[in-house]
This record gives sequence, C-alpha cells and structure tokens, in this order.
Amino acid sequence: MRAHAFLFDLDNMLYPAHSGVTEALEDRMNAYVQQVSGLPRKEAVALRQHYFVTYGTTLRGLQLFHHVDVETYLYTVHDFDMPRYVKPNPALVTLMASISVPMAIFTNSPREHAQRALDAIGLTHLKMPIIDIRMLNFLPKPHPDAYQIALQTINCPAEGTVFMEDTLHNLEYAKTIGLTTVYIPHHADMPVPSYVDYCFPDAQTAITAFL
Ligand SMILES: [Mg+2]
Repeated sequence: MRAHAFLFDLDNMLYPAHSGVTEALEDRMNAYVQQVSGLPRKEAVALRQHYFVTYGTTLRGLQLFHHVDVETYLYTVHDFDMPRYVKPNPALVTLMASISVPMAIFTNSPREHAQRALDAIGLTHLKMPIIDIRMLNFLPKPHPDAYQIALQTINCPAEGTVFMEDTLHNLEYAKTIGLTTVYIPHHADMPVPSYVDYCFPDAQTAITAFL
C-alpha cells in the first residue's frame, strides 16, 4: 500500500537497536531512580523497569510517586554524547527526503534528545514535526491521547497513516484506531502478534514498502 502519512518512532527504530543509546539512557535512569528512591541498585533497577512497563516511561512513574522535577530529570538522563552511539545514515536521509506525504517523529523522548539523534543520523534539515513527551503532556505512548495528538499534528486520519515502532505494546492501541502498524523488531526471531500489520527488518526497508 501507499502511505498517506507516516508516524515514526525514533529510538531504536530510526537508528539500530544495538547502538548503545538504550544502555546509556538506562544507566542514567537507574542512577536517578536510585537517588530519588533511596533504594539499593538492584531494587532501583526493578522499580524503573516496573515504571516503564506500567506507565510507558520511567518519568511517568517518577512524577506519580516521587514528585521529581521533570526538566532536571530530562536533562540529566539525556545528557550524553549521541554521535558516539548513533552514526550517519545517508541512505535513510535520501529516502526520507523523498517522502512527499505528511510525516512526523512520534516519540516518548524529549525534543532535544530526538533532535540530537536526528542530527547524528543526518536528518537535521528534514522538515517534520517532532511530537515529543512534552507535546504529549507527559502521557506517553501507548496512552490513547498520545495518538490523537500525533494525528492532529499531521492533520491526517488514522486510515492510511503508517506508524512504525520497535516497541510492540505501542502498536496494539494504534491498530484499534485504524493506523497501519509496522513493527521493526530488534531480532529476526521475535514473535509477531496479530495487531502487527507488517514487519520489516529496518526502517529503510519499511519506508520503501509504502512509497
Ligand atoms: Mg523505539
């Protein structure tokens, strides 16, 4: 099918999942949770994972139960050298520059992190909205409101809009509202649930299939 619009997840989707960004982020998040909770490292890691799975982001759990300062958290956790992990991808840049339908980045990360990743890939000059955690009013995917904000931002209906993700549970609700769900798994042998419409090994292959 030809896409009428694209919504792109960013982290571990527009750059490889084995880049090391997740580990860099998780190290900082674990340290932050450890600091604000006063728990030993192992328990703090488990608590962070619980927050992430239950609320979509670690931040949401920290907001609900630890009253953290959001901006301090976002700055501290995302303050690392992005180009050390994310490398330029000229082929992806050329491909995305050829997209003539509406598109946006749809991420649970803050804008400055997304922009640093886009810069590292080489997508700096590509004009598209970045729908970030602040635009989502800190209610991350898979919260239903997030998808409405994303569709309003690109001003397109769900039907015909292709949504690409590496995080499965963000695709489940997307399917119920009529988005075309595209899963980019981290490994070829990962199981694919029925709410996934298409599965591709990487973003480039996936985008090409809908142009
Ligand atoms: Mg992702």
